[in-house]
Amino acid sequence: MQKLLTLLSDNHFHSGEELGQVLGITRAAVWKKLKALEGLGLHIDSVRGKGYRLSPDIELLDHENITEQLELAVKNKVALHTCLSTGSTNDLVQELVFSSSRKQHFCTAEYQTRGRGRRGRNWSNPFGSTICLSALWKVGEGMASLEGLSLAVGVVVIQALESIGCQGLKLKWPNDVLWQSPEGYKKLAGILLEVHGDPNGECKVIIGVGLNAALSQEQLTAIGQPATDLQRICGRVVSRNRAVSALINHISTMLDQYGEEGFDAFRECWSRYDAFSAQTVTVDASGKQVIGIARGVSEQGGLLLETDSGMMTFNGGEVSLRKR
Ligand code: ATP
Repeated sequence: MQKLLTLLSDNHFHSGEELGQVLGITRAAVWKKLKALEGLGLHIDSVRGKGYRLSPDIELLDHENITEQLELAVKNKVALHTCLSTGSTNDLVQELVFSSSRKQHFCTAEYQTRGRGRRGRNWSNPFGSTICLSALWKVGEGMASLEGLSLAVGVVVIQALESIGCQGLKLKWPNDVLWQSPEGYKKLAGILLEVHGDPNGECKVIIGVGLNAALSQEQLTAIGQPATDLQRICGRVVSRNRAVSALINHISTMLDQYGEEGFDAFRECWSRYDAFSAQTVTVDASGKQVIGIARGVSEQGGLLLETDSGMMTFNGGEVSLRKR
């Protein structure tokens, strides 16, 4: 598949026969592979008499290209793995940790067969159209210090995207990245944090970022809640490799700062990106609905809600916030 994708990504059309010859397979086998890729959501231009090519808007992930755009200090600190397809980059990054002694590991894939959101919800990632990036960070002080980390990730994901020209982004607690369109907020990215290990000792934090790069209208509609992508927000094709390196640069630097200063260093910034500050919202906490006014976040990163019975603080787990 990798070889076929590389052949198709040079902007020129290639006939089934030519592809078959280069790959050493029959035309029918080429056609089957192309259909399989389309089935995973990849858009392939097909013109009778000319052949096939990848849509010019699609930029495949390229390990060298991403690495070249990393800051020197980050390059020296992180181990990066890129792959075509995996179950979930959050799972893969845990296996990769054994292949290098670096403190931070990142991995990215064109496609995940089991991309997931919070509490096992589905995360849609059509082949080559989104960015699935996971980081693994080894921590020595236990989970208590990690409460605000997912919020800090949200902050630097926005800063990374701003650095490549994407504006108008906001955060929905705890860490959905939204874009304010004329019709209201649309979801651009989701962040999923998983912590493994001893809560009072050494543990590993896995940070997964799912970000839409360029989806078709049908793919966006199928998501089931208002969603958007970088191409629609920026009004141009956005390089996925550039976006991945910007994310790695920002997340890696943030982890160092978080290790030293904790959430305190990011709280004010989170408030600036708060999509629902001072607005009436509903919080669904384990099935119980509470209405109140969103009042930002606590020192630990909990959601502050002003209710008729006083100020309430909600922490992660089974809590969801919706605008009323
Ligand atoms: P919460 O407020 O609890 O975080 P959520 O609906 O945003 O609620 P998440 O677990 O963060 O839940 O994300 C999963 C949800 O995101 C899915 O149920 C779906 O509605 C939406 N989703 C799935 N794939 C995408 C995507 N590629 N882009 C935007 N949204 C998506």
